[in-house]
Amino acid sequence: MGVPTLGCDCPVCTSTDPNDKRLRPSVMLRWRETQSSRSGEASEGREAVRTTGQEAGATLERVVVIDTGPDFREQALREKLTRVDAVFYTHSHADHIFGLDDLRPLSFAAYRQGETIPLYASSETRAVLERIYEYTFSPDATYPNRARVRLEPLEERTSVHGVEFVRVPVMHGDLEIAGFRFGRAAYLTDVSDIPEASFALLEGLDHLVVSALRYKPHPSHATVDQAVGWARRIGAKQTWLTHIAHELGHEETNRTLPDGVRLAHDGLSLSVSL
Ligand SMILES: [Zn+2]
Ligand SMILES: [Zn+2]
Repeated sequence: MGVPTLGCDCPVCTSTDPNDKRLRPSVMLRWRETQSSRSGEASEGREAVRTTGQEAGATLERVVVIDTGPDFREQALREKLTRVDAVFYTHSHADHIFGLDDLRPLSFAAYRQGETIPLYASSETRAVLERIYEYTFSPDATYPNRARVRLEPLEERTSVHGVEFVRVPVMHGDLEIAGFRFGRAAYLTDVSDIPEASFALLEGLDHLVVSALRYKPHPSHATVDQAVGWARRIGAKQTWLTHIAHELGHEETNRTLPDGVRLAHDGLSLSVSL
């Protein structure tokens, strides 16, 4: 719901600690792609970008976003986002998809270079996106300023400009949704359970980001204690809790967490080996 939560005057919603201000969760992964790691299927658009740094060993910035929630625009402004190379969707709930339309200006820039932005989504998520954003995705859509994006199936593994994104199935209540692993990090949001088979995809992590809504049980979100249990089992060097409700104050909750587990906060930036 975001913190402050509308209509609430609890101590966390009225806190002056900037870490108690929480926009809806998402992740941006930004890396420099060296020319040598470029895939062979360079399209016109990528060529066009490359002309800005044609020296041998030149690098290109690549940006992948996981989920575009209702606060995507504000987050993108904060992070000075100028491009998006791909979006991965975890699932189709409003707090994870309602910023899709704000991809428009970035997609227009890509389109001028002959590209559309790929949106990787499960068939369930795709169906919801097609319904809600009918004016974008319908073959009959005539809205001229629609986002220049395209839906792509979410496979077990997807390579984006040399970086592999591994789909990590997790449960969100009755729904199976997608978490993602990239290099030595993983992002699992809206988790209520982790299927046994998914733990094998989470070995050898430096950073695990996993959701923990509050202390009180919830039908489709993990509690802090559940998330700490997964953190211990998965054994990432550092675990960050996200998708945090207003029951959890940043400082007081962090004081209670074991070593190696901390609440994430808006704007948290981590260095990850890909
Ligand atoms: Zn959800
Ligand atoms: Zn959510």
